[in-house]
Amino acid sequence: MSERLFDPHGILEVAEDADLATIRRAFRRLAMRWHPDRNADPAATERFREIRAAFDWLTGDPDVAEVDNGGEADAEPTAGDRHETLDLSLVEAMLGCDKPFVIRRQRHCEACDGEGSVALSHTRLCDFCHGSGKVRTAHGLEKCHICSGRGYVQRATCDSCAGSGEVVADKTVAIHVGAGMLPGEVLRLKGLGHELANGSAGTLFLTIRLVDDGLFRLDGRDILSSQPVSMLRLMAGGRVSIAAPLGPVLIDLDPDQIAGRELRLAGKGYPGRGGSLDDAGDLVVTLEPCLPEQLDEPQRRGLGRLEDQLQRDRATHFPELDAWWQAYLASRP
Ligand SMILES: [Zn+2]
Ligand SMILES: [Zn+2]
Repeated sequence: MSERLFDPHGILEVAEDADLATIRRAFRRLAMRWHPDRNADPAATERFREIRAAFDWLTGDPDVAEVDNGGEADAEPTAGDRHETLDLSLVEAMLGCDKPFVIRRQRHCEACDGEGSVALSHTRLCDFCHGSGKVRTAHGLEKCHICSGRGYVQRATCDSCAGSGEVVADKTVAIHVGAGMLPGEVLRLKGLGHELANGSAGTLFLTIRLVDDGLFRLDGRDILSSQPVSMLRLMAGGRVSIAAPLGPVLIDLDPDQIAGRELRLAGKGYPGRGGSLDDAGDLVVTLEPCLPEQLDEPQRRGLGRLEDQLQRDRATHFPELDAWWQAYLASRP
């Protein structure tokens, strides 16, 4: 590492004048990403060491470290609170579910007591400056902060936590979601938040979010959808299968209502709180007429006969078409 320019700000992706709170936040973010426990990339270990070294370099001064502790307390005013999003399908949200949820957790490393390093029984050459006690930076050759210019170290990076002082302890829990919770509503789960210094844990706030399935939309507790239906069925009336979120529903179409192609199924929408059907919204389906394709000869003849028959009383069956022709004929000399 002493071969190339050591740029601790660049490694931590912070500006030259970044304050300690920013540096600490950047270190945490990068350490989460590159910790060898959670990143399988073979380069992760080296990258993590570099991040750790840059962090140590920038926070090595004891005066500075004191300020840093104050900054840390300020940065976490809501100690223990954790805010996350819980993605549910429409059906899961309507019926309620027990949804597996992975809680990402960092635990204090016991092997090094959170220090990130452990005392060595024998002193060792400093890896960072390769024993020279000096490192080349943008400002020229500087004293190595890792070994304080001694060229050897008496502590080594903790193997258990790779120097982060924290170990990853992800936990999967089943989150019970009651039926009929709306997107944006928040579940409060005590004891599943961040761990606190006293060993207890804060509160996990989970905001419900619905995964867009491209089929159904929510408007309050009404569920809106568009569904293609044969134009002939729309005209003839009769039984059609309407796709509702919980399964198809058979509906008898009233042929007199073909003008309004919106179908409203009362109470077939999103259930009320606790799954109550009394408070359920409606299912509002816009029927999209579909023209038949690839007709064979007998089918064409059948439709032709129907067309001839309807044209015989055009004013009744095609009033729009009839009015157009009347206007055209009247305009001619
Ligand atoms: Zn050194
Ligand atoms: Zn450790």
